Amino acid sequence: MAEKMTYYTAMDSYPQQYEDTTQLYKFYDYLREGKLTTTKCKDCGAIHWPPRKICPECISDNLEWVDMPEVGTIYSYTVAYAGLPPELVDKAPIVYALVDFDNGVRIFSGLVDCEPESVSTGLKVELAVGEVPPDQLGRKRISPYFKLV
Ligand SMILES: [Zn+2]
Repeated sequence: MAEKMTYYTAMDSYPQQYEDTTQLYKFYDYLREGKLTTTKCKDCGAIHWPPRKICPECISDNLEWVDMPEVGTIYSYTVAYAGLPPELVDKAPIVYALVDFDNGVRIFSGLVDCEPESVSTGLKVELAVGEVPPDQLGRKRISPYFKLV
């Protein structure tokens, strides 16, 4: 019964990341360069998370890519011991945090390379790009995680 789980396309919970599969591929292009970005509306100034093609505030499609601040602050967090995605199962327990940035964006993501006991609210974190399962064509995919500064 203890067979290795196979994850099929129907269970793929990771975003598409390349130009032929998503209009937001630039986010992943920047992320591969180690840069966390998002979109900002040139018409109303709203900064979005996650990145958008259309501004949810004013319905404009006049958006630009902007850099996120390099450091965020842990607003809250929880520790997960089970039910983890395949790339994190071997790393349990995993800390998931809500990270606040000076530009008003709050991001929910995992913290890597840390023990749960070392995490508390108010601590500073920075980007840590992690690899997630490849797409249906076998292309490498990544995800934005964070690590303690
Ligand atoms: Zn707008």
